Amino acid sequence: MLDRIKSFKKIDAHSHIGVFGSWSNVSITAEELIADMDEYNVEKAVISTFPIKESIEAVDKYPDRLIGAAWVNPMEKDALDIIKDAVKNHGFKGIKLHPLSQAYLPNDECVFPIAELAGELDIPLMIHTGHPPFSLPWSVAQLADIYPDVKMVMIHMGHGNGMYVQSAIDMAKKYPNLYLETSGMPMHTKIKEAYEQVGADRIMWGLDAPFHHPTVEMQRTIVSGLNDSQLEDVFYNNAKKLLKL
Ligand SMILES: [Zn+2]
Repeated sequence: MLDRIKSFKKIDAHSHIGVFGSWSNVSITAEELIADMDEYNVEKAVISTFPIKESIEAVDKYPDRLIGAAWVNPMEKDALDIIKDAVKNHGFKGIKLHPLSQAYLPNDECVFPIAELAGELDIPLMIHTGHPPFSLPWSVAQLADIYPDVKMVMIHMGHGNGMYVQSAIDMAKKYPNLYLETSGMPMHTKIKEAYEQVGADRIMWGLDAPFHHPTVEMQRTIVSGLNDSQLEDVFYNNAKKLLKL
């Protein structure tokens, strides 16, 4: 299984660097993440940090391996300037929002200027999903309904709760600008369901380092029931296309 895991070239659509203390008690440096990427055949990883400084430094240092997603708090008034600087001066390819940890709804009006800027810059919003009350798929879907031309990735595609995972799939079926990312989502079967029912190019693999081990996240995808060319879409092609890598 390990050889098969390593045989697929990958892009990690969602990871972090840094120290996450408190309840999670995990950490990883940029160098440690890249060592794991080398070990498990991950060509590039999309990283985000809050505040953004640490990810800007890492992306500047390893531009061939690390891709930035600009994590901002929409309630802070310099959020738009932070995104513009990250995209124009550091090549960031997406915007990361974490409505749960920063306590706002994805469809709150504080997010509207961010969504408009994502549209202008033609980059996706990557939104944490899976926890009430601030990060449920239905709220992301309401934002997707308001901004049909802005692509939005539901990070964790509903995360650990099966009802939220199903709602992420249901909402993505309804809104063609919604995409799904697999990290932390426990059901291997839902990866195949999403690939077939939502769309072959709308589900992508991610690790969410340092919260998960690479082999765990990779194995779930490999046993999902998809064939090898479909797995290549999930592991590599879909993130490459969405993020224009
Ligand atoms: Zn994450």
